[in-house]
Amino acid sequence: MAPSTRSILFTSLLTIPSLILAQKTAFLEDFAILDEKDERKPPFAASTVNKWDAGSYPQFCYDTANAAKGTDDPRRNCEIANVEVFDVAYADCPDKPWTVCRCTDAQLSVDQMVNAFGRVPPGVRSHVVHIFILDGSRPDGSIGKSGGSNNDRFVIRGPIDDAAFAHESFHSVDKGFSSQSTFTDAYDADSCVPDNYANSSPAEDFAQLGTWLDYDINGVPISSYLDKDQGCMKNQLEAVRAYATQYIDLNTSECFDRRPNDGNVTPAASTGVKALDVDDGPAPPITFEFEDEW
Ligand SMILES: [Zn+2]
Repeated sequence: MAPSTRSILFTSLLTIPSLILAQKTAFLEDFAILDEKDERKPPFAASTVNKWDAGSYPQFCYDTANAAKGTDDPRRNCEIANVEVFDVAYADCPDKPWTVCRCTDAQLSVDQMVNAFGRVPPGVRSHVVHIFILDGSRPDGSIGKSGGSNNDRFVIRGPIDDAAFAHESFHSVDKGFSSQSTFTDAYDADSCVPDNYANSSPAEDFAQLGTWLDYDINGVPISSYLDKDQGCMKNQLEAVRAYATQYIDLNTSECFDRRPNDGNVTPAASTGVKALDVDDGPAPPITFEFEDEW
């Protein structure tokens, strides 16, 4: 074997372990226990909700509504006529309301949506521009629970636990931290991850660790209802705490000038010649950078 070939082979073998997240023991099977009782959750900020008149939609909501639910499900994520748009002003961020969308067939009610997002600490929430709450039904009639995050915007599908709103928001807090050595070294030094889902990728591990800290700091200490030594993931928890505690801890967490809202689409005003066309059907399904199934 020529030296150059051997060195290429050797290099590629060396890089394989860093591309695949080795599986670690899951501390919990999943995070259901965090939302099992109200007092365990971070408090939600009070809010004022104003519904928009029909006919105008943030670009993210319009494009998401118009896309097919999946490659195996040609239904639109939401018929445009069923998209509700709300401005939600939270008491912890009164001057910067969020514009959020909900499909009328979503399993989560307006109140559930508003309060679950309101539990996300303001400094974490401010990393998110828009959210869209959708129906979680599948072609076989079952109801799934999932989320997807792209470009600081996320969707929630189905009757999901509140922790999912924190999880999706933490994908926007990540900004590449989960692939940096500060985090991966901490991961390597530990013998467990928070739950099975955290084994999916470093980014999913980071989002679960952020959610864990949010509930642990702002709800009640998790150790008060879970008698189990967290030492097996202490390096990861410390790394995320050091990186994001100013956004997480309600004693320091503040909303900030987040990225600007999308422009609005007003289909009725822009139809023109299109009005004569037959329905083109939904756009292809959206590929999310982070696609989460619970
Ligand atoms: Zn995720």
